[in-house]
Amino acid sequence: MSKLIVGNWKMNGTTDLVDEFSRMMEADNLVLGLPYIFLSSFRSKTGKIKLAAQDCSIFSEYGSYTGEVSAKMLRSIGVEYVILGHSERRALSLLDSAKNVYRKLSNAIEAGLIAILCIDESYDQLIDKNTAKLIEENDEKVILAYEPLSAIGTGVVPDILEIAEQIVDIKERYHGVTTLYGGSVNSKNASEILSIEGIDGVLIGGASLKAAEMNTILSTGL
Ligand code: PEP
Repeated sequence: MSKLIVGNWKMNGTTDLVDEFSRMMEADNLVLGLPYIFLSSFRSKTGKIKLAAQDCSIFSEYGSYTGEVSAKMLRSIGVEYVILGHSERRALSLLDSAKNVYRKLSNAIEAGLIAILCIDESYDQLIDKNTAKLIEENDEKVILAYEPLSAIGTGVVPDILEIAEQIVDIKERYHGVTTLYGGSVNSKNASEILSIEGIDGVLIGGASLKAAEMNTILSTGL
């Protein structure tokens, strides 16, 4: 089974980029995390890539929650994954407290989405008891993305051995759950990172906006 390659466009992208990616990309192991507004149109253009939302609501049902999008709604338009608890959301909006991330995770699982839960070096604090239990009980529906804060968007990837050690520790603590690495992955370093023992894939921010970069990463064949 090929390793999972997940792109996170963040608040980037245009309808032209959506067109380009929907025409150029095709891979079973690729998941693209798009802004909400592009998900539906991307899905109507092609079913050849899996899609992720970059968040979902703490509320599970339909209702009077202006501006919110539920996990169920995402699932209903053919979205398969959701990225949760990204450090940018935990830090900037202050909305993604451990308690809220737990609610989102549980809604995502309930709706049939696979949740990509982002954690940094302080994962033992970010993952509270309830979240750990949820991960243990739903290990097929949860993926952890280990993203050291110093590596996100900086171009600085930690020492490969350091990443390897953290991945081993995370997998030991959380029952062998699928674990990705994220932070400044690009077409030049992807092959080395993807070769780390035990790593199940990568989460890519900046480089995921370039189809050529993503195709090179996919072509590592790992
Ligand atoms: C991210 O924000 O999840 C990320 C990995 O970003 P970048 O690849 O740009 O460091």
